[in-house]
Amino acid sequence: MSLCFPVTTRFAPTPSGELHLGHILAAQEARRLADIHGGRCLLRIEDLDANRTRDPAVVQQMLEDLAWMGLRFDGEIVRQSERTIAYSAALDKLRTMGLLYPCFCSRSEIRAEWEGMFRAPHGAPGYRYGGRCRTLPPDLIEEKLARGVPHAWRINMRRVQDVIGCPTWEDIGSKGVQRCVPASCEDVVLARKDAPASYHLAVVVDDAWQGVNLVSRGEDLLESTPVHRALQGVLALPVPLYAHHALLRDASGRRLSKREQACSIRALRKLGFSRQQLMEIVRSATKNGGRCCLHLP
Ligand code: GLU
Repeated sequence: MSLCFPVTTRFAPTPSGELHLGHILAAQEARRLADIHGGRCLLRIEDLDANRTRDPAVVQQMLEDLAWMGLRFDGEIVRQSERTIAYSAALDKLRTMGLLYPCFCSRSEIRAEWEGMFRAPHGAPGYRYGGRCRTLPPDLIEEKLARGVPHAWRINMRRVQDVIGCPTWEDIGSKGVQRCVPASCEDVVLARKDAPASYHLAVVVDDAWQGVNLVSRGEDLLESTPVHRALQGVLALPVPLYAHHALLRDASGRRLSKREQACSIRALRKLGFSRQQLMEIVRSATKNGGRCCLHLP
């Protein structure tokens, strides 16, 4: 493991609801990793999805709750909704490299294709795109684009592998050095008509732009890291180290984020929990693989 100094981590919440204990764990972990290395911890608001996240009141409330919890961040707060020019530039670069293709599939077509491939008529959890539009004839693509058929832009991961091979990335926790095999990653969406960039593209562009060299985040995003490593490769961006932390769970092992309302900082404050108590609950959960001893009424 070779940490680059100064270490820069970040907390990057999507403001789709109230700040909850799972957020506190993620923020506290990013802060802790910055502090033990004498580094900086940045705050980035991932508010790209206009349907789910653009309510300024939600962001404001999140910021207030973070402040009430005593969590501090360094530098300016970055909002992804203000960074769309940078995402467009990255998309243009990938398009010029011949790595993107338009996908005209609806959600139900993607699901049907996936279920057909795996003969799971009742829907395998977490189905992924099977590549239906990857091989459309160029004249058909032109015709659909000219007619204004709604589409997303996907990255062709097989071509990505031709360009960058199979690079490695490193998790500073128990996972160690991992190999990214782009062709086995999904051809993820990088932009949609209603969203200028997807999570995957924005996160990679922003981590590089903000100089984040240690990405601390929940292990639910572990599957996304090879995709991000592949994007860093084709965009020629610096490759950060990663630290994937355990997610907050209740005593029976169920993810607490499934009960976001009950675990929101506002709700817990109303129940009389102090900041110190909530911090302690999260701290001891971190030491206990995410298991949390919160007893909710
Ligand atoms: N915005 C994402 C979330 O709230 C986290 C992104 C990341 O850490 O890469 O789950």
